[in-house]
Amino acid sequence: MTTDRRRDREAGVLGATPEQPGTTGDQETGKRRWDPAYRAHCPQCRKSGRTFAVYGKAEHAAHGHAVKYGHATYVIDQYGIRVVGSDQRPGTDG
Ligand SMILES: [Zn+2]
Repeated sequence: MTTDRRRDREAGVLGATPEQPGTTGDQETGKRRWDPAYRAHCPQCRKSGRTFAVYGKAEHAAHGHAVKYGHATYVIDQYGIRVVGSDQRPGTDG
């Protein structure tokens, strides 16, 4: 499983940020600032689709792109991290 890798990357994002010493006061509100956001991403086009608050819609968009353009796509979250298991490949509908 690759869930451990994803968790590590999230921990890196959400963990201490010693590189930003001048942001005191933002840390408490930082959690609320980032609502869940999902986007379909195509590495071949190097583009991301519109942002959805619902994962399923982003996945649907990713799937639509995969079918329409024949590109393998996946869903990324608000951190730009690939969502595990979100891969959409052309020709695998159903
Ligand atoms: Zn594409």
